[in-house]
Amino acid sequence: MSEINRSASKELYNTAKTYFPGGVNSPVRAFKSVGGTPLFIKKGNGPYLWDEDDNKYIDFCCSWGPLILGHNHPDIFNETVAALANGATFGAPTKKENELAAIILKNIPFIDKLRFVSSGTEAVMSAIRLARGASGKSKLVKFEGCYHGHVDSLMVKAGSGLITLGTSSSAGVPEALANETIVLPLNDLTILSDTLHAHFAEIAAVIIEPIPANNGLLLQDKTFLLSLRALCTKLGILLIFDEVISGFRVAFGGAAAFYGITPDIVTYGKIMGGGLPVGAYGASNELMANISPEGPVYQAGTLSGNPVAMAAGIAQLTNCLKPNFYELLASKTLKFVSVINNHARNKGYAFEIFSIGSIFWLSFSDNKRIAAADQINPDMQNFNMLHKSLLEHGIYIGPSGYEVGFVSEAHSEEVLNVASERFCASLDVIFSK
Ligand SMILES: *Cc1c(COP(=O)(O)O)cnc(C)c1O
Repeated sequence: MSEINRSASKELYNTAKTYFPGGVNSPVRAFKSVGGTPLFIKKGNGPYLWDEDDNKYIDFCCSWGPLILGHNHPDIFNETVAALANGATFGAPTKKENELAAIILKNIPFIDKLRFVSSGTEAVMSAIRLARGASGKSKLVKFEGCYHGHVDSLMVKAGSGLITLGTSSSAGVPEALANETIVLPLNDLTILSDTLHAHFAEIAAVIIEPIPANNGLLLQDKTFLLSLRALCTKLGILLIFDEVISGFRVAFGGAAAFYGITPDIVTYGKIMGGGLPVGAYGASNELMANISPEGPVYQAGTLSGNPVAMAAGIAQLTNCLKPNFYELLASKTLKFVSVINNHARNKGYAFEIFSIGSIFWLSFSDNKRIAAADQINPDMQNFNMLHKSLLEHGIYIGPSGYEVGFVSEAHSEEVLNVASERFCASLDVIFSK
């Protein structure tokens, strides 16, 4: 396989660098960890992407999760265009907000009310304000390795001890704010229980990605999640499931439905907007009564519940409710992953793909990882080589070894067969070096 032609992407990137910090509008797009020029994408259709040099790829990044039906799904296209024909935004209530809310609330019984926002970050930011406003407490507990958007209080990492107050992991986040956040290791019940028992009087909420998928795929023991739920209930702490990535992905009701565990507040994003910018947070009637204009917790948005985005979300989620939608997606993914894993095992490569539902993660180790501390991955060099080789074989995955990949409905068995062959060929290339 030869080096792919990136001349058009290179030229665009050079111009973009004069317009945007690092040439991008979100850091992970920059190919900083894998090296080389980020590909500028010209179009997508079904499971495929084309870059500005007209190279074609099977896409497993799927815009980092939203595209569970693949690119350019006809229902989403038609509904979005039809909505747009009536005007892009009004800043007044529209029927479509009710329609999308009804689809979600009818199928996710543990939330009574929602508020639509425009991104996952905004959903999380609003959910923690709700938790603090409703509880009158200010501290938050988060887990090392979970990402909750670029929310100030959650841009924190653990210090050196096991139970530590957060230290800010971004310039511009005051330490005073980081100090309101306690960072705990995932999947460690003893530390969790000790911390919550010691500090429950100050802790407004515990926030977790119930399926942590932003730092590798750190699947938690179900007993840990069940105990977390029980501890929060016992100690009067609100439990927030950040389901921006797992919501409508592993099941319509996300990880909460998948595991049968009910959070107090839930956040959604990515899939629910059908590729347009939408997020939401939801909870019981009682909790949501705290949100303005009903209650004292202020939260607003000029484009919240935007009718074009609502139309895309309605089309997307209606498709997700088709019979066996999630079963089919999971079985296709498992087959795809198994073919590659069998190849790696037969050849003795230190490589395994972990997956849940239609989410998968490439690990250069066969150790199952469940806590962020295990994530200090010595093998990013291998990932970077694999990423390069996959691009050369026409497979597009996110340009970071800590990111997961996604299979969409548009990835047919035929496409996945081609993709698994190319994956195996790429593994042969990098493990023969
Ligand atoms: C992507 C993500 C976010 C942030 O969502 P944006 O739409 O990028 O702001 C928050 N939480 C989780 C779990 C995510 O995966």
